Amino acid sequence: MKRDGHIHTPFCPHGTKDELRAYIEKAIRSGFGDISFTEHAPLPSSFADPTPEKDSGMSLETLHLYLDAIKQAKDAYKNDIQIRVGLEVDYITGYESETRSFLDEYGPLLDDSILSVHFLRMGSDYFCMDYSKEVFMDIAHQAGSVEAVYELYYKTVEASIAAELGAFKPKRIGHPTLVHKFQLAHGKKIDDDQHIKRVLEKIAETGYEMDLNGAGFSKPDCLESYPPQHYIPVAESLGIPLIFGSDAHSVNGLHKHYGKLYNK
Ligand SMILES: [Zn+2]
Ligand SMILES: [Zn+2]
Repeated sequence: MKRDGHIHTPFCPHGTKDELRAYIEKAIRSGFGDISFTEHAPLPSSFADPTPEKDSGMSLETLHLYLDAIKQAKDAYKNDIQIRVGLEVDYITGYESETRSFLDEYGPLLDDSILSVHFLRMGSDYFCMDYSKEVFMDIAHQAGSVEAVYELYYKTVEASIAAELGAFKPKRIGHPTLVHKFQLAHGKKIDDDQHIKRVLEKIAETGYEMDLNGAGFSKPDCLESYPPQHYIPVAESLGIPLIFGSDAHSVNGLHKHYGKLYNK
């Protein structure tokens, strides 16, 4: 059965206002039998979102509206499609205990969630790594090189896999090569094969699933999935369940590139 396990919604503060119903009806029309809405969870309240609009996650008030809306949609479409309610939760170095408390409270309400790294800590500063190529180059400048950003990114992803976030820790690791998002902008050829394989091994050891994320194909400075397609057989040989994610922030982006990854 076709499944899309990473979908944003009108409740995303930096996405589109496309209606939930339009996402669901497109999924049904496209032959998907199982979808997960995974909106960006609220960030820890003591964490200062480093993005200019401070719109990386939902507010707690919006979270409640979101959970209600998905619950209603699940019910309304229950004969047509399985809808899972989830969140894309940020792993932020140094905020593990707040993240855990959040998951202890809201995890019981969720069916399916993703743990992702978007923020990198350098010294006492945090950066949103995937915000723009300018921010990415700024991080590279402060870290000393593009390669150093890659090192820091994979170290943070490994920490996310190992993190003790309690009984409701998400079971799926989001877009594990997001650091490639601006690879064609900086033009540095970084050999991170060993890093990616280590990440896959850690995912396999802990029994998590992996987000096979198509969004990078649409990013002009990336043009590949997260992770790149040649890691699919590697992940499969390790026994990692791969869950396709379009990471759509609009109805237009929903299920995009599924065909590239599954030859359909
Ligand atoms: Zn987003
Ligand atoms: Zn993400």
